[in-house]
Amino acid sequence: MKKRIIIVGGGASGLICALLVAEGDHEVILLEKNSRVGRKIRASGNGRCNITNRRVDPSCYFGHHPAFVHYALKQFSTDDLVRFFRKLGMEIVAVEDGRMFPMAMQALVVVAFLEYACRERGVRIETETAVEDVTKECGKFIVATGSGKMYADAVVLATGSTAAPALGADGSGWRIAKGLGHRLHDPFAVLVQLQSGDPFCRACKGVKLDAVITFEARDGTTYRVRGDLLFTDYGLSGLAILDISRFVSAALHRGETAAVTIDLLPDISYDALKKRLQKGRHQFGDLPPELWLSGILHQKVVAALLRKTGISERSARELSTKKIQTLAYMIKHLKIKIDATRGAKGAEVMAGGVDCHEVDPKTMESKLVKNLFLTGEILDIDGKRGGYNLHWAFASGYLAGRKLRGG
Ligand SMILES: Cc1cc2nc3c(=O)[nH]c(=O)nc-3n(C[C@H](O)[C@H](O)[C@H](O)COP(=O)(O)OP(=O)(O)OC[C@H]3O[C@@H](n4cnc5c(N)ncnc54)[C@H](O)[C@@H]3O)c2cc1C
Repeated sequence: MKKRIIIVGGGASGLICALLVAEGDHEVILLEKNSRVGRKIRASGNGRCNITNRRVDPSCYFGHHPAFVHYALKQFSTDDLVRFFRKLGMEIVAVEDGRMFPMAMQALVVVAFLEYACRERGVRIETETAVEDVTKECGKFIVATGSGKMYADAVVLATGSTAAPALGADGSGWRIAKGLGHRLHDPFAVLVQLQSGDPFCRACKGVKLDAVITFEARDGTTYRVRGDLLFTDYGLSGLAILDISRFVSAALHRGETAAVTIDLLPDISYDALKKRLQKGRHQFGDLPPELWLSGILHQKVVAALLRKTGISERSARELSTKKIQTLAYMIKHLKIKIDATRGAKGAEVMAGGVDCHEVDPKTMESKLVKNLFLTGEILDIDGKRGGYNLHWAFASGYLAGRKLRGG
């Protein structure tokens, strides 16, 4: 019998799900609160959409039940995703570090292909339609929108998280899932910039460098990443910061104090740096320390380091061995206390969400409410930076769509 299936949310997971369900003999309605579908996809990867990664693997995902992703990633691997989009007409290419993008390097084409395929298969897409509530009575779902009620045999909640509210995210799906009896793990921002009141950051505002960032959680677990670091007036940004932010944010969320340690010159060891500075102190003895050190580090960083170490000597020669040691140590172990993250408004993704123990990992169907499905970021799964979050959204949407289509 022909069923009516309502998909709430026209993002990555909702679009792929709708497309698959529509291949079956069903009436498929996709409700999207924004004026267009796929706003987050359009903004992803700086407008290029880092759609997946060559190395998609369960170890790249986090949450209270990360093993939940195993089945989905097996059923919808990187190759499957590439094949899926190729069948729609869109090619995907990899860059050196394994990240993968649409060949056109344009995020909007991902949305264009998905939307076209949905419409072609008869999906009714209703934009500017925010779902306010979903309830179930006598086996039927009642989907309440601002303009009235709709009935459905099955509902997919593909509403995402609260990350990037500027793109329309408001977490209403979490409220709806809770109303249907699901447990939520408190969300916290990940892939996000870090805030610090340390004057060092403001003094170095605008400086970008290649650094190693280390973070040690209270339980002694140490995380280390290397990459771009950007000092800003609010604290720290850059790809390396986004990469380590999940662990810092989780610690702050647990109520721990947090600090990151920055190695400003990762290609030289502490001992080698010390030796080099000691030698330089004689070789360039006449130079003012700020000029001497700007031979190896950005001027703003040098000025902030001299302030932090209390160095006010007028020439390199005047620096004591102890001060040289302190300086070398600071360059290799600059500690910055983190006060907070930039929160949902700065985040690409939110950790937390609907408890995965209450969802069938093979179909994304709720174990509490029959014919209710939950896909993508609404679930308590978040991935590393590098295409893993979109991959999760597509893989989970694929499983739900396949189940609803039948087969
Ligand atoms: C700036 C930015 C860049 C990113 N870049 C990347 C990247 O390059 N690679 C990567 O892997 N990940 C990236 N991400 C993360 C990735 O975009 C998300 O994890 C992914 O889009 C989640 O998919 P989803 O389908 O679960 O939710 P979304 O894509 O957020 O879609 C949810 C949809 O539901 C709609 N909606 C919500 N509530 C309702 C309601 N009540 N009624 C009707 N509609 C509703 C929303 O408007 C939205 O369109 C980025 C995120 C941001 C913010």
